[in-house]
Amino acid sequence: MALNVLVVDDSSVTRMMIIKTLKMAGLPIGETFQAGNGQEGLDQLEENWIDIALVDINMPVMNGEEMIEKVRENPEWQAMPIIVVSTEGSQTRIERLLQKGVKFIHKPFAAETVREVISEITGIDHEPTESETDF
Ligand SMILES: [Mg+2]
Repeated sequence: MALNVLVVDDSSVTRMMIIKTLKMAGLPIGETFQAGNGQEGLDQLEENWIDIALVDINMPVMNGEEMIEKVRENPEWQAMPIIVVSTEGSQTRIERLLQKGVKFIHKPFAAETVREVISEITGIDHEPTESETDF
């Protein structure tokens, strides 16, 4: 099963980095969709089948927290896995997000962390790399 992924971040460089990381992680990534803010993210969700969303917090127009609230209000998207990828330092805000059933990854992120969190959420393991099959 290939995972369709939505990446929401106001930095196009960060979006590209996240998508590159996902593709290199050995996870079965299907189509990737991008959005520059929460509103565009919601628009992408309306138009496409998305299995998992990676969402920044600080963005213009609509921030990630507002977007996540709207996603969780919609029965169709309620159970969609969301990973917040953010520089957010406020523990209160992070706690509030975790209560909405999202995972949190700190920016800058390690590729390994992204891979682990997605494997954990989906139950899909990555293809072992050569170094891991060596013994
Ligand atoms: Mg941002």
